[in-house]
Amino acid sequence: MNKPIYMDYNATTPVDPRVLEAMLPYFRGQFGNAASKSHAFGWTAEKAVDKGREQLATVIGCDPSEILWTSGATEGNNIAIIGAARMYGEKNKHIITCKTEHKAVVDPCKYLETQGFEVTWLDPDMTGRVSADQVREALRDDTMLVSIMYANNEIGTVHPIEEIGAACKERSVLFHTDATQAFGKLPIDVDAMNISVLTMSAHKVYGPKGVGGLFVRKRNPRVRLQPVVYGGGQERGMRSGTLNVPGIVGCGMAAELAFSEMKQEGERLTGMRDRLWAGLNDRLPEITLNGHPTHRLPNTLNVSFKYIEGESLMMGISDIAVSSGSACTSASLEPSYVLRAMGVGDDIAHSSIRISLGRFNTDEEITFAIDALVEAVNKLRELSPLYEMAQEGIDISKVQWKA
Ligand SMILES: *Cc1c(COP(=O)(O)O)cnc(C)c1O
Repeated sequence: MNKPIYMDYNATTPVDPRVLEAMLPYFRGQFGNAASKSHAFGWTAEKAVDKGREQLATVIGCDPSEILWTSGATEGNNIAIIGAARMYGEKNKHIITCKTEHKAVVDPCKYLETQGFEVTWLDPDMTGRVSADQVREALRDDTMLVSIMYANNEIGTVHPIEEIGAACKERSVLFHTDATQAFGKLPIDVDAMNISVLTMSAHKVYGPKGVGGLFVRKRNPRVRLQPVVYGGGQERGMRSGTLNVPGIVGCGMAAELAFSEMKQEGERLTGMRDRLWAGLNDRLPEITLNGHPTHRLPNTLNVSFKYIEGESLMMGISDIAVSSGSACTSASLEPSYVLRAMGVGDDIAHSSIRISLGRFNTDEEITFAIDALVEAVNKLRELSPLYEMAQEGIDISKVQWKA
């Protein structure tokens, strides 16, 4: 067993060796610009880029021509939200989203609030889910866009995307979903789910960093997005810039592999994740699972260990790479805004860690992680005066602390 052990796959994944192999020729002899129409270097690159579109399209059930290449999910979400606002936001200035979205959705929406748009921020339930009825009730005649992620990166909760899509269809409202965590892990059908725009990123599915795909519906009805970056007019004018051909080849290959192994790998990950949870829950009192018990990504386990700081726990298990709070804001000591929006108390939120498993984890590593976590939690609790008081039957929440 090699250490440290990586269990932070929702933050990023290693490039699968098969993906790297597919990319290498495009760094060497096949280095052409996909927009060069006058010679074989360009044609070879264009062919590779089109193959990538087909590979992504197969995963989500769209036409290859409906895939645009981006630099990843942050850019994809910005093009989807700001591009839609610039295209359709002249009269309709209302957007519906959820408080637990990734910052790459939250921040473009906040920006639009400064530009005269009104955003309804839906509150998820205790498990992190929003319902189609919540969306239905929030829809208005001037709603321009609904943006709800497929699965949450921090807690793994999966939203009822098909029902939300149906609610949007009833009112002919554009529906964007950030599917970065669901892509290649869960079935996606953009027609059955009435998705207008969908975001994915290669580095969350064993592809390279800095490349991703954006599905933009071409029919029933056709969706148009104003560009965010202006230039050479590549990607149907919606995303200018020379295409990252090796990255795109890697993204396509990563998508194909994830899709072909999805069912089997999903079962393997669910098995490991559930054994990890059972192992911790059997041996440690006062721990809680954050997120939905069943509507959850197969690889994600977010756990709170009462009376312990997530940050201290991470130090105590330095052989295992996990994350605490929100991965993207873990430099700050603010408790996770995702857990907070779900109504999780600050003390429980502070004591949470996210374990996200992936393709290269083994059963042996799960066993190691259970033992390491149990040992670290017991050790930290022994040092914790709060835990000692709780053991003596004192209700910590009712203690009057002297100033
Ligand atoms: C990682 C992630 C993003 C950001 O993707 P990048 O490709 O790193 O920009 C956006 N949304 C979700 C849900 C993510 O997990």
